[in-house]
Amino acid sequence: MSFDFGAINADGSVQAETVEDADLKALAEAGADWSCAACGSGNRGDASACTQCGAEKASAENLNRAHDCWSNKQAETERERNAAEEEKEKEISKSQMIQKELVTARIVSRQHADGESALQFIYDAYQEQAEKKVSALESRLKEMDQQLKESQRIATRAQDGLRLEAI
Ligand SMILES: [Zn+2]
Repeated sequence: MSFDFGAINADGSVQAETVEDADLKALAEAGADWSCAACGSGNRGDASACTQCGAEKASAENLNRAHDCWSNKQAETERERNAAEEEKEKEISKSQMIQKELVTARIVSRQHADGESALQFIYDAYQEQAEKKVSALESRLKEMDQQLKESQRIATRAQDGLRLEAI
């Protein structure tokens, strides 16, 4: 029995080779190498126990169980990852919504401030006009009081004149 190994040349091409060496043949017949479940060391296919720690080579049944266990674990982790991803997306959209609300609130509050200062401007203008009107009316009243005094004085003098004439 001989085995063909596809050795690779320097130029990358595969060179078919016939294995004649007894050690290489034994190695090929040993089957796939296996790594120890206990310590992780690599072992030859024909070794029934780990050369490093002495642990027995896992049986096919145990390997199948391990595979199933880790496949389930992987599926579970994927589910958890998807849930976390979904939660992350939700948080991002929530934060974007809050950002939008903040922008709107800023606009509204600016408009409110603008409205308030416009109102203040109108009130101030009205107040100024009212004060001017009041002081104008006050000086007119003073004038009229003066005129009233003058007419009263003239009327009194006229009455005095009439009284003198009557005597
Ligand atoms: Zn080991």
